[in-house]
Amino acid sequence: MRKRLSIEEYIEGIKSQNRFVLSRAITLVESELASDNALASELIEALLPLTGNSIRIGITGVPGVGKSTFIEAFGNLVTSLGKKLAVLAIDPSSQRTGGSIMGDKTRMETLGRNPLAFIRPSPAGSSLGGVSRKTRESMLLCEAAGFEVILIETVGVGQSETAVSNMVDFFLLLMLAGAGDELQGIKKGIMEMADAVVITKADGDNAPKAHLAKAEYQSALHLFPPSETGWQAQVLTCSALENKGLQEIWELIMQYQCLLQSNHSFQQKRQAQNIAWMHEVIKQSLENQFYNHFLIKKLIKEKEDSIKEGKQHSVKAAIELLELYANR
Ligand code: GDP
Repeated sequence: MRKRLSIEEYIEGIKSQNRFVLSRAITLVESELASDNALASELIEALLPLTGNSIRIGITGVPGVGKSTFIEAFGNLVTSLGKKLAVLAIDPSSQRTGGSIMGDKTRMETLGRNPLAFIRPSPAGSSLGGVSRKTRESMLLCEAAGFEVILIETVGVGQSETAVSNMVDFFLLLMLAGAGDELQGIKKGIMEMADAVVITKADGDNAPKAHLAKAEYQSALHLFPPSETGWQAQVLTCSALENKGLQEIWELIMQYQCLLQSNHSFQQKRQAQNIAWMHEVIKQSLENQFYNHFLIKKLIKEKEDSIKEGKQHSVKAAIELLELYANR
Protein backbone atom coordinates (compact mmCIF):
# COMPACT_ATOMS: atom_id res chain seq x y z
CA MET A 1 0.00 0.00 0.00
CA ARG A 2 1.10 3.52 -0.76
CA LYS A 3 1.96 5.76 2.13
CA ARG A 4 -0.84 8.15 3.00
CA LEU A 5 -0.05 11.75 2.24
CA SER A 6 -0.53 14.32 4.98
CA ILE A 7 -2.80 17.29 4.39
CA GLU A 8 0.31 19.50 4.13
CA GLU A 9 1.78 17.21 1.47
CA TYR A 10 -1.46 17.38 -0.52
CA ILE A 11 -1.62 21.17 -0.25
CA GLU A 12 2.02 21.70 -1.17
CA GLY A 13 1.84 19.20 -4.03
CA ILE A 14 -1.21 20.80 -5.56
CA LYS A 15 0.13 24.32 -5.11
CA SER A 16 3.27 23.29 -6.91
CA GLN A 17 1.10 21.79 -9.68
CA ASN A 18 2.38 18.27 -9.11
CA ARG A 19 0.15 15.99 -11.21
CA PHE A 20 0.95 12.92 -9.19
CA VAL A 21 -0.32 14.60 -6.03
CA LEU A 22 -3.32 16.00 -7.93
CA SER A 23 -4.24 12.46 -9.02
CA ARG A 24 -3.95 11.19 -5.48
CA ALA A 25 -6.05 14.07 -4.21
CA ILE A 26 -8.78 13.21 -6.73
CA THR A 27 -8.65 9.60 -5.57
CA LEU A 28 -9.11 10.94 -2.04
CA VAL A 29 -12.25 12.90 -2.95
CA GLU A 30 -13.60 9.87 -4.80
CA SER A 31 -13.15 7.62 -1.79
CA GLU A 32 -16.23 6.40 0.02
CA LEU A 33 -14.41 6.19 3.38
CA ALA A 34 -15.62 8.67 5.98
CA SER A 35 -12.03 9.40 7.13
CA ASP A 36 -11.02 10.19 3.54
CA ASN A 37 -14.09 12.39 3.11
CA ALA A 38 -13.13 14.41 6.16
CA LEU A 39 -9.57 14.89 4.87
CA ALA A 40 -10.89 15.75 1.40
CA SER A 41 -13.18 18.45 2.81
CA GLU A 42 -10.31 19.91 4.81
CA LEU A 43 -8.14 19.91 1.71
CA ILE A 44 -10.77 21.62 -0.46
CA GLU A 45 -11.35 24.25 2.21
CA ALA A 46 -7.63 24.97 2.41
CA LEU A 47 -7.31 25.25 -1.37
CA LEU A 48 -10.45 27.31 -1.90
CA PRO A 49 -8.58 30.62 -2.34
CA LEU A 50 -6.73 29.07 -5.28
CA THR A 51 -9.88 27.91 -7.06
CA GLY A 52 -12.28 29.59 -9.46
CA ASN A 53 -9.76 30.80 -12.02
CA SER A 54 -10.85 28.62 -14.87
CA ILE A 55 -13.59 28.45 -17.42
CA ARG A 56 -15.69 25.39 -16.61
CA ILE A 57 -17.21 23.73 -19.64
CA GLY A 58 -19.65 20.83 -19.56
CA ILE A 59 -19.91 18.61 -22.65
CA THR A 60 -22.63 16.09 -23.25
CA GLY A 61 -24.10 14.04 -26.08
CA VAL A 62 -25.28 10.51 -26.74
CA PRO A 63 -22.70 7.73 -27.17
CA GLY A 64 -21.33 7.85 -30.71
CA VAL A 65 -21.96 11.57 -31.22
CA GLY A 66 -18.21 12.10 -31.19
CA LYS A 67 -17.48 13.39 -27.69
CA SER A 68 -14.05 11.87 -27.26
CA THR A 69 -12.95 12.77 -30.78
CA PHE A 70 -14.21 16.30 -30.19
CA ILE A 71 -12.53 16.66 -26.80
CA GLU A 72 -9.27 15.40 -28.23
CA ALA A 73 -9.31 17.91 -31.12
CA PHE A 74 -10.73 20.77 -29.08
CA GLY A 75 -8.37 20.04 -26.20
CA ASN A 76 -5.38 20.13 -28.52
CA LEU A 77 -6.60 23.49 -29.85
CA VAL A 78 -7.01 24.92 -26.35
CA THR A 79 -3.56 23.75 -25.28
CA SER A 80 -2.07 25.15 -28.50
CA LEU A 81 -3.19 28.54 -27.14
CA GLY A 82 -0.95 27.86 -24.16
CA LYS A 83 -3.79 27.02 -21.78
CA LYS A 84 -3.61 24.22 -19.26
CA LEU A 85 -6.58 21.91 -19.73
CA ALA A 86 -8.12 19.31 -17.43
CA VAL A 87 -10.69 16.83 -18.70
CA LEU A 88 -12.90 15.10 -16.14
CA ALA A 89 -15.00 12.44 -17.76
CA ILE A 90 -17.92 11.03 -15.83
CA ASP A 91 -18.05 7.39 -16.61
CA PRO A 92 -21.40 5.76 -15.95
CA SER A 93 -20.22 2.33 -17.08
CA SER A 94 -17.84 1.98 -14.15
CA GLN A 95 -20.82 1.70 -11.86
CA ARG A 96 -22.29 -1.30 -13.65
CA THR A 97 -19.30 -3.26 -14.75
CA GLY A 98 -16.55 -2.13 -12.46
CA GLY A 99 -14.68 -1.43 -15.68
CA SER A 100 -14.40 1.86 -17.43
CA ILE A 101 -15.09 3.23 -20.88
CA MET A 102 -12.09 5.40 -20.21
CA GLY A 103 -10.00 2.30 -19.79
CA ASP A 104 -10.04 2.24 -23.58
CA LYS A 105 -6.54 3.51 -24.23
CA THR A 106 -7.37 4.77 -27.71
CA ARG A 107 -9.65 7.45 -26.28
CA MET A 108 -8.01 10.86 -26.46
CA GLU A 109 -4.63 9.38 -27.16
CA THR A 110 -2.82 12.49 -28.37
CA LEU A 111 -4.39 14.67 -25.70
CA GLY A 112 -3.30 12.13 -23.12
CA ARG A 113 0.32 12.70 -24.16
CA ASN A 114 -0.06 16.48 -24.27
CA PRO A 115 1.98 18.01 -21.43
CA LEU A 116 -0.56 20.79 -20.91
CA ALA A 117 -3.47 18.37 -20.57
CA PHE A 118 -4.65 16.26 -17.67
CA ILE A 119 -7.33 13.63 -18.30
CA ARG A 120 -9.14 11.91 -15.51
CA PRO A 121 -12.13 9.59 -15.65
CA SER A 122 -14.53 10.18 -12.80
CA PRO A 123 -16.56 7.20 -11.67
CA ALA A 124 -20.25 7.99 -11.53
CA GLY A 125 -20.48 6.20 -8.20
CA SER A 126 -23.62 4.82 -6.74
CA SER A 127 -25.64 7.99 -6.52
CA LEU A 128 -26.25 11.18 -8.38
CA GLY A 129 -25.04 13.01 -5.32
CA GLY A 130 -21.85 11.05 -5.85
CA VAL A 131 -21.37 12.51 -9.32
CA SER A 132 -21.88 16.02 -8.08
CA ARG A 133 -19.64 15.86 -5.08
CA LYS A 134 -16.76 13.97 -6.62
CA THR A 135 -16.73 15.86 -9.87
CA ARG A 136 -17.14 19.27 -8.23
CA GLU A 137 -14.35 18.62 -5.80
CA SER A 138 -12.10 17.18 -8.51
CA MET A 139 -12.75 20.32 -10.55
CA LEU A 140 -11.73 22.53 -7.63
CA LEU A 141 -8.56 20.51 -7.14
CA CYS A 142 -7.69 20.93 -10.83
CA GLU A 143 -8.23 24.67 -10.57
CA ALA A 144 -6.01 24.88 -7.51
CA ALA A 145 -3.37 22.97 -9.49
CA GLY A 146 -3.40 25.72 -12.11
CA PHE A 147 -5.67 24.32 -14.81
CA GLU A 148 -7.33 27.16 -16.71
CA VAL A 149 -9.87 25.28 -18.78
CA ILE A 150 -11.87 22.42 -17.27
CA LEU A 151 -13.91 20.16 -19.52
CA ILE A 152 -16.42 17.91 -17.81
CA GLU A 153 -17.70 15.20 -20.10
CA THR A 154 -20.87 13.30 -19.45
CA VAL A 155 -22.75 10.77 -21.55
CA GLY A 156 -26.10 12.27 -22.46
CA VAL A 157 -28.21 9.38 -21.39
CA GLY A 158 -28.62 9.76 -17.68
CA GLN A 159 -29.36 12.37 -15.11
CA SER A 160 -25.77 13.40 -14.72
CA GLU A 161 -26.21 16.21 -17.30
CA THR A 162 -28.30 18.20 -14.84
CA ALA A 163 -25.69 17.70 -12.15
CA VAL A 164 -22.96 18.79 -14.55
CA SER A 165 -24.86 21.78 -15.91
CA ASN A 166 -25.21 22.96 -12.31
CA MET A 167 -21.46 23.01 -11.80
CA VAL A 168 -20.17 24.54 -15.04
CA ASP A 169 -20.13 27.99 -16.57
CA PHE A 170 -20.87 26.85 -20.10
CA PHE A 171 -22.82 23.79 -21.16
CA LEU A 172 -22.21 22.36 -24.62
CA LEU A 173 -24.52 19.82 -26.19
CA LEU A 174 -23.15 17.75 -29.07
CA MET A 175 -25.73 16.49 -31.55
CA LEU A 176 -25.72 14.36 -34.69
CA ALA A 177 -27.34 15.55 -37.88
CA GLY A 178 -29.73 13.41 -39.84
CA ALA A 179 -30.24 10.93 -37.06
CA GLY A 180 -33.96 10.90 -37.84
CA ASP A 181 -36.04 12.49 -35.12
CA GLU A 182 -33.44 15.13 -34.57
CA LEU A 183 -35.25 17.31 -32.13
CA GLN A 184 -36.69 14.42 -30.15
CA GLY A 185 -33.43 12.48 -30.00
CA ILE A 186 -32.36 14.24 -26.87
CA LYS A 187 -34.57 15.30 -24.01
CA LYS A 188 -35.96 18.78 -24.33
CA GLY A 189 -34.71 19.58 -20.84
CA ILE A 190 -31.13 19.03 -21.95
CA MET A 191 -31.61 21.33 -24.94
CA GLU A 192 -32.85 24.00 -22.57
CA MET A 193 -29.73 23.71 -20.46
CA ALA A 194 -27.40 24.16 -23.43
CA ASP A 195 -25.47 27.39 -23.96
CA ALA A 196 -24.47 26.04 -27.35
CA VAL A 197 -25.43 23.10 -29.51
CA VAL A 198 -22.74 21.75 -31.80
CA ILE A 199 -23.62 19.49 -34.71
CA THR A 200 -20.73 17.06 -35.00
CA LYS A 201 -19.24 15.27 -38.02
CA ALA A 202 -19.95 18.13 -40.43
CA ASP A 203 -17.70 16.66 -43.10
CA GLY A 204 -17.97 14.71 -46.36
CA ASP A 205 -21.46 13.62 -47.32
CA ASN A 206 -22.70 14.58 -43.90
CA ALA A 207 -21.84 18.29 -44.24
CA PRO A 208 -25.07 19.43 -45.97
CA LYS A 209 -27.17 17.52 -43.42
CA ALA A 210 -25.20 19.13 -40.61
CA HIS A 211 -25.86 22.61 -41.98
CA LEU A 212 -29.56 21.84 -42.32
CA ALA A 213 -29.69 20.54 -38.77
CA LYS A 214 -27.95 23.70 -37.60
CA ALA A 215 -30.76 25.84 -39.03
CA GLU A 216 -33.39 23.60 -37.45
CA TYR A 217 -31.82 23.67 -34.02
CA GLN A 218 -31.27 27.39 -34.24
CA SER A 219 -34.99 27.97 -34.76
CA ALA A 220 -35.88 25.42 -32.06
CA LEU A 221 -33.61 27.19 -29.57
CA HIS A 222 -35.20 30.53 -30.32
CA LEU A 223 -38.42 29.16 -28.90
CA PHE A 224 -36.80 29.04 -25.47
CA PRO A 225 -36.87 32.23 -23.44
CA PRO A 226 -33.44 33.92 -23.29
CA SER A 227 -31.43 33.05 -20.21
CA GLU A 228 -31.28 35.44 -17.23
CA THR A 229 -27.64 36.02 -18.07
CA GLY A 230 -28.59 37.66 -21.36
CA TRP A 231 -27.00 34.86 -23.35
CA GLN A 232 -28.84 33.41 -26.32
CA ALA A 233 -27.84 29.81 -27.05
CA GLN A 234 -26.07 29.35 -30.37
CA VAL A 235 -25.77 26.46 -32.80
CA LEU A 236 -22.51 25.66 -34.58
CA THR A 237 -21.21 22.80 -36.67
CA CYS A 238 -17.82 21.14 -36.46
CA SER A 239 -15.72 18.32 -37.77
CA ALA A 240 -13.32 17.05 -35.16
CA LEU A 241 -11.76 14.72 -37.73
CA GLU A 242 -10.99 17.57 -40.12
CA ASN A 243 -10.33 20.14 -37.40
CA LYS A 244 -13.09 22.42 -38.67
CA GLY A 245 -15.27 24.70 -36.59
CA LEU A 246 -13.30 24.19 -33.37
CA GLN A 247 -11.78 27.65 -33.27
CA GLU A 248 -15.31 29.11 -33.65
CA ILE A 249 -16.50 27.09 -30.68
CA TRP A 250 -13.65 28.36 -28.53
CA GLU A 251 -14.36 31.92 -29.64
CA LEU A 252 -18.03 31.50 -28.79
CA ILE A 253 -17.13 30.36 -25.29
CA MET A 254 -14.85 33.39 -24.92
CA GLN A 255 -17.70 35.67 -26.09
CA TYR A 256 -19.97 34.06 -23.53
CA GLN A 257 -17.47 34.60 -20.76
CA CYS A 258 -16.93 38.20 -21.82
CA LEU A 259 -20.65 38.97 -21.89
CA LEU A 260 -21.35 37.35 -18.54
CA GLN A 261 -18.37 39.00 -16.90
CA SER A 262 -19.38 42.41 -18.22
CA ASN A 263 -22.92 42.12 -16.88
CA HIS A 264 -21.72 40.45 -13.63
CA SER A 265 -23.75 37.30 -14.21
CA PHE A 266 -20.63 35.11 -14.43
CA GLN A 267 -19.95 35.43 -10.71
CA GLN A 268 -23.64 35.50 -9.86
CA LYS A 269 -24.17 32.20 -11.64
CA ARG A 270 -21.28 30.61 -9.74
CA GLN A 271 -22.53 32.02 -6.44
CA ALA A 272 -26.01 30.67 -7.10
CA GLN A 273 -24.49 27.27 -7.98
CA ASN A 274 -22.48 27.26 -4.75
CA ILE A 275 -25.50 28.14 -2.65
CA ALA A 276 -27.68 25.53 -4.36
CA TRP A 277 -24.87 23.04 -3.78
CA MET A 278 -24.83 23.71 -0.04
CA HIS A 279 -28.57 23.01 0.12
CA GLU A 280 -28.08 19.89 -1.95
CA VAL A 281 -25.40 18.60 0.45
CA ILE A 282 -27.65 19.30 3.43
CA LYS A 283 -30.54 17.42 1.83
CA GLN A 284 -28.37 14.48 0.91
CA SER A 285 -26.77 14.27 4.34
CA LEU A 286 -30.09 14.44 6.14
CA GLU A 287 -31.49 11.74 3.91
CA ASN A 288 -28.46 9.50 4.46
CA GLN A 289 -28.51 10.01 8.20
CA PHE A 290 -32.22 9.28 8.35
CA TYR A 291 -32.15 6.09 6.32
CA ASN A 292 -29.00 4.82 8.01
CA HIS A 293 -30.31 5.29 11.55
CA PHE A 294 -30.82 1.92 13.22
CA LEU A 295 -34.37 2.74 14.36
CA ILE A 296 -35.46 3.75 10.90
CA LYS A 297 -33.73 0.75 9.36
CA LYS A 298 -35.66 -1.42 11.77
CA LEU A 299 -39.06 0.19 11.22
CA ILE A 300 -39.10 1.11 7.58
CA LYS A 301 -40.01 -2.38 6.39
CA GLU A 302 -42.88 -2.56 8.89
CA LYS A 303 -44.24 0.72 7.59
CA GLU A 304 -43.88 -0.43 4.00
CA ASP A 305 -45.84 -3.57 4.83
CA SER A 306 -48.64 -1.69 6.56
CA ILE A 307 -48.94 0.64 3.55
CA LYS A 308 -49.03 -2.38 1.23
CA GLU A 309 -51.76 -3.99 3.30
CA GLY A 310 -53.77 -0.76 3.39
CA LYS A 311 -53.40 -0.46 7.16
CA GLN A 312 -51.69 2.90 7.08
CA HIS A 313 -51.66 5.97 4.91
CA SER A 314 -48.25 6.86 3.36
CA VAL A 315 -48.21 10.39 4.73
CA LYS A 316 -49.07 9.27 8.27
CA ALA A 317 -46.35 6.61 8.08
CA ALA A 318 -43.80 9.15 6.88
CA ILE A 319 -44.73 11.63 9.63
CA GLU A 320 -44.46 8.96 12.31
CA LEU A 321 -41.00 7.92 11.12
CA LEU A 322 -39.83 11.52 10.87
CA GLU A 323 -41.09 12.29 14.37
CA LEU A 324 -39.46 9.20 15.73
CA TYR A 325 -36.18 10.26 14.11
CA ALA A 326 -36.46 13.85 15.36
CA ASN A 327 -37.13 12.68 18.94
CA ARG A 328 -34.55 9.89 18.95
P1 GDP B 1 -18.39 9.28 -28.22
O1 GDP B 1 -19.00 7.94 -27.96
O2 GDP B 1 -19.43 10.36 -28.15
O3 GDP B 1 -17.19 9.57 -27.37
O4 GDP B 1 -17.93 9.26 -29.76
P2 GDP B 1 -16.50 9.02 -30.43
O5 GDP B 1 -15.64 10.22 -30.31
O6 GDP B 1 -15.94 7.72 -29.92
O7 GDP B 1 -16.89 8.88 -31.96
C1 GDP B 1 -17.79 7.92 -32.45
C2 GDP B 1 -17.48 7.64 -33.90
O8 GDP B 1 -17.69 8.81 -34.69
C3 GDP B 1 -16.04 7.22 -34.16
O9 GDP B 1 -16.03 6.20 -35.11
C4 GDP B 1 -15.38 8.46 -34.69
O10 GDP B 1 -14.30 8.20 -35.55
C5 GDP B 1 -16.52 9.13 -35.44
N1 GDP B 1 -16.33 10.59 -35.47
C6 GDP B 1 -16.08 11.38 -34.41
N2 GDP B 1 -15.93 12.67 -34.81
C7 GDP B 1 -16.09 12.67 -36.14
C8 GDP B 1 -16.04 13.70 -37.15
O11 GDP B 1 -15.78 14.89 -36.89
N3 GDP B 1 -16.27 13.32 -38.44
C9 GDP B 1 -16.55 12.03 -38.78
N4 GDP B 1 -16.78 11.77 -40.05
N5 GDP B 1 -16.58 11.03 -37.86
C10 GDP B 1 -16.34 11.34 -36.58
